[in-house]
Amino acid sequence: MKYDVIIVGGGASGLACALTLVSARGRGWQWAEDRKYLLFDTDSSDLKRAYLKNVPGLDPMEGKELLQKIRSQIEAWGGIDFLQEEVVRVKRIDSLYQVESSSGKVFSADYLVLACGFHRFSVEGLGVEVVENTKSPKPGRVMIRHRDYEVADGLFVVGTLAGLSSHFTSCAGSGVEVAIEILSRFAGKRIVIHDVPEEG
Ligand SMILES: Cc1cc2nc3c(=O)[nH]c(=O)nc-3n(C[C@H](O)[C@H](O)[C@H](O)COP(=O)(O)OP(=O)(O)OC[C@H]3O[C@@H](n4cnc5c(N)ncnc54)[C@H](O)[C@@H]3O)c2cc1C
Repeated sequence: MKYDVIIVGGGASGLACALTLVSARGRGWQWAEDRKYLLFDTDSSDLKRAYLKNVPGLDPMEGKELLQKIRSQIEAWGGIDFLQEEVVRVKRIDSLYQVESSSGKVFSADYLVLACGFHRFSVEGLGVEVVENTKSPKPGRVMIRHRDYEVADGLFVVGTLAGLSSHFTSCAGSGVEVAIEILSRFAGKRIVIHDVPEEG
């Protein structure tokens, strides 16, 4: 099956990317309406161990509750499939990324977003340069070099795997940045998604 965007990782950065992508739907933008998105996740986000007291504007909350809240927000927009499986291999075939999961399922997409966190990067076949994560105070963390989050044509990296500091807000922000970049490419112009209160 072919998707427009496949996101690998459903933690802070991957979910923020997904939420922004789907939030372009239902606005009468022809270029956004029939897009298909797929998110893979192995359910081991660092947020599952966190208790968040320093996320701007958010009352103190367990990280696992925040993950669930964002998932619900995404589901309310619709237009995305979730698969709780590990991505093990990616091949570039012409302009498409062909993604294979641990159970052997194969999907392709025009854009691929790597949001796998900084503990390890074990996806084969991409030929990306995985280096020591210099932003982490702890040894053994990894990151992938990029330019404005883009690693190769249509291949993006976000969150701690992009070398951002390990905080919800900065990782989520990178997911939003990449989603807006991809949506702008769909639209053929720079876009912004802002909502205002309903009147009355
Ligand atoms: C104990 C603890 C306390 C913390 N407290 C705070 C705090 O108070 N404030 C704050 O702002 N931040 C806090 N953080 C940091 C915050 O949780 C991280 O910065 C954030 O979760 C990183 O987001 P990420 O998207 O880079 O990675 P993650 O959220 O870790 O998500 C990565 C996801 O990718 C998935 N994945 C990896 N490889 C694959 C694959 N091949 N296929 C499919 N899925 C894959 C994983 O299962 C995981 O769900 C804390 C972290 C910890 C551990």
